[in-house]
Amino acid sequence: MNNKIQKKDQNNNGPLNNFSKISIVYIILAIFMIYMYQHYTADKKTIITYSQFKNLLNEDKIKKCTISEKYIKGKYTDKNNAEKNFLTIAVNDPSLIKELQKHKVDFSGTITSTWLTNLIFGWILPFGFLFFLWWLMSKKMKGASGGLFGFGKSRFKVYLNEKPGVKFSDVAGVEEAKQEIEEIVEYLKDPNKYQRLGGRAPKGVLLVGAPGTGKTLLAKATAGEAEVPFLSISGSEFVEMFVGVGASRVRDLFKEAKKLSPCIVFIDEIDAIGKSRAMGSMASNDEREQTLNQLLAEMDGFDSSVGVIIMAATNRPEVLDPALLRPGRFDRQIIVDKPDLEGREKILKVHAKKIKLSEDVDLKVIAQMTPGLAGADLANIVNEAALLAARENNSSVRMEHFEEAIERQIAGLKKKNRVIKKDEKKRVAYHESGHAIIAYLLPGADPVHKISIVPRGLSALGYTQQLPTDEKYLITKEDMLDKVSVLLGGRAAEEVIFGTISTGAQNDLSRATDIVKALVTQFGMDEKIGLVVYDQPGSQQFLTSQGIIKQRDDISEKTKETIDSEVSNIMAELYKTTKKVLIDKKDKLERLSAELLEKEIINEQELKSIMED
Ligand code: ADP
Ligand code: ZN
Repeated sequence: MNNKIQKKDQNNNGPLNNFSKISIVYIILAIFMIYMYQHYTADKKTIITYSQFKNLLNEDKIKKCTISEKYIKGKYTDKNNAEKNFLTIAVNDPSLIKELQKHKVDFSGTITSTWLTNLIFGWILPFGFLFFLWWLMSKKMKGASGGLFGFGKSRFKVYLNEKPGVKFSDVAGVEEAKQEIEEIVEYLKDPNKYQRLGGRAPKGVLLVGAPGTGKTLLAKATAGEAEVPFLSISGSEFVEMFVGVGASRVRDLFKEAKKLSPCIVFIDEIDAIGKSRAMGSMASNDEREQTLNQLLAEMDGFDSSVGVIIMAATNRPEVLDPALLRPGRFDRQIIVDKPDLEGREKILKVHAKKIKLSEDVDLKVIAQMTPGLAGADLANIVNEAALLAARENNSSVRMEHFEEAIERQIAGLKKKNRVIKKDEKKRVAYHESGHAIIAYLLPGADPVHKISIVPRGLSALGYTQQLPTDEKYLITKEDMLDKVSVLLGGRAAEEVIFGTISTGAQNDLSRATDIVKALVTQFGMDEKIGLVVYDQPGSQQFLTSQGIIKQRDDISEKTKETIDSEVSNIMAELYKTTKKVLIDKKDKLERLSAELLEKEIINEQELKSIMED
């Protein structure tokens, strides 16, 4: 996500910059020329007074004149018998016409040449012509450079396959998705051959996954592998204030795509336009609907021999309009999951290639320390670690830099000068000690790696970092309950020590509630609710390779009530036992929090020695 500005973007700036430089030179030149023209033509007219004009007339020197309300202009012969133009201000002179007739002057009337006509003929027309030329030129430039299209009306970006393009090897930890996309690469390499061999040509591919999991990267890599152009636009860019802009942008996009085929069209955040039409009907969604309809029409409008693949990304597949997912549209859905332990290590490897690592760096350990983080987070961590090392003038990046970078990424920037009141700090120390002790004692909880009460970010006053020993694919009910107990441990400790509770446990409690809810409604682990699944994992972190699963809406009111009461019963029960454990271990709680207050950070060994003592 942070790497949005890719090298290719910058490459494409070249022609655009040159282009605007050229046009500025042209404009200045044109203004100069227009000025010179007017100056020159004006100069050729000799401006004379009305009495001079009258004299010339009486001397029969005036040949021809044109009379308007304000000016009289025409031709006269001067002393050397040369013909010259003259201009004079008209005065109210009723006898003029008679005199002109008397001296046989060829005269006519004309409409007044006011500032308006001057403006139109002197400036607007020439400039109009100039802009026309400019427009012609800009069309040519676009065609020639193949760089940044969409100057002005459409906003999509085109990346032609320049070297070095993004390749599959740049995308790590999403092997399954890559396998599925392999077919699309085959197709793009030779759309016709693919069809001859009888493959049902793909058209639309929906990449589903949390932000930063590499969906954009994967789409780019698909283009890179197939060596085809990549057109990209974000769904939110379609929908603007002006009705009709979105639809016309879709048209432009597809027109361009057909020209460039075979190619990939990538629509990021497709949910911005593809939201189900049934949802949120109170707002005026005319614009979005028009855009969506146009998109559907365009997708239906070309057949698969054209060689255009539409890839779209979303992290909220459940809100998409079903029409988008029908056959012939985005009928292939590929899940781009958050990486597991192995995947994280691979992603780290990809990004660490660009920096110099010191010997002590073990990417596997870093992967262990970063459960739940997406590819973009890991890329940030590597970047941040490199920056930290550079700031210290180190020649290579060491493990401590990574640790610092991870902490920053996970808990927000260190708030070095944040002032916390002493009693607040004490409460935080007991709170975190509560988490740590429960985590230490319960077999289903992940082992504690580090406890810290160094404030980081705005919300986290302290944290207890746990490292899973192994990535688990099956979690037992007991494990889940233990995890909830650990989350409740913070508040329980506060209550045991102070007799009062604080707002510091809000995040813990919401996470605990999520787990217990899942236990009851998704995994059939509650006796009263039984084996019926009432809530499908719909949120992103539960997306599985089985595809996109939607929420059920056929739950009876009574069941809903039972679910609610079961969830709160389980929470209450766990809280009670957690509190009891902490009362039993009150001496450990005191010792650990005292030590934490003193040192601010306590590691695994130190916790162990306190607990085993
Ligand atoms: P998304 O489109 O899913 O939000 P992006 O593709 O924009 O995520 O990812 C942002 C950046 O994070 C990428 O440019 C890349 O540097 C890094 N990244 C994300 N996922 C991966 C991955 N699987 N392998 C390597 N790098 C990744
Ligand atoms: Zn807590």
